Amino acid sequence: MKDTHKHQGLRVKLASVLNAKGITDERVLNAIKKIPRHLFIDSSFEAHAYQDKAFPIAAEQTISQPYTVAFQSQTLEVKPGEKVLEIGTGSGYQTAVLLELKAEVYSIERQHELFKKTSLFLPKLGYRAKKLIFGDGYKGLPEIAPFDKIIVTAGAPFVPKALLSQLKVGGRLLIPVGDKTQIMTLFIRKSPKEFEKHELGDFAFVPMLEEKN
Ligand code: SAH
Repeated sequence: MKDTHKHQGLRVKLASVLNAKGITDERVLNAIKKIPRHLFIDSSFEAHAYQDKAFPIAAEQTISQPYTVAFQSQTLEVKPGEKVLEIGTGSGYQTAVLLELKAEVYSIERQHELFKKTSLFLPKLGYRAKKLIFGDGYKGLPEIAPFDKIIVTAGAPFVPKALLSQLKVGGRLLIPVGDKTQIMTLFIRKSPKEFEKHELGDFAFVPMLEEKN
């Protein structure tokens, strides 16, 4: 668990690469500069940890590309103290970014191996989510809802109704929708019944696994 000056220097470079790609939110860039991404991935990829690339983690899943994480974080417009639900904890890297943005984070992971691994790992770095949950993201978290923000970090075949219904008025749901590639889709809840929808370009995620009954 070493974080050296060299790693820190590589993160500063990564932040400037992301800035050149359109990430302008200083709070997001500062989170990228701070979080030791090389510790979230297998040590065999360590040398490449600060390239703008996705990598395999356990259970055939991936840690999202830094640009994707930064884009989703910027688009959510997370403010300190907001209640945020994340679907797809994975390596916990996006979770750490949300915690650096001072959100109260609830995060659901469907793969038990990853849930266990990340639940042990994040606190070692001092990252404390309100709750990490082993469960099915399609259902959201009705007992904690409503949320200010909901972020989905797996490719969803459709927009789960439960997630829309668990948003506060004024809240945002950011979800990549589609099969092979996904359209990043932002929903802003305008009133109990009205949602504004924005399509924000193509991305590639691992699939959001089927609903469990
Ligand atoms: N934010 C993560 C991305 C991991 S990839 C990171 O940066 O590391 C997507 C994750 O979503 C995987 O860990 C996958 O197991 C999880 N996932 C897929 N379908 C899910 C579902 N229905 N509910 C909760 N998590 C799910």
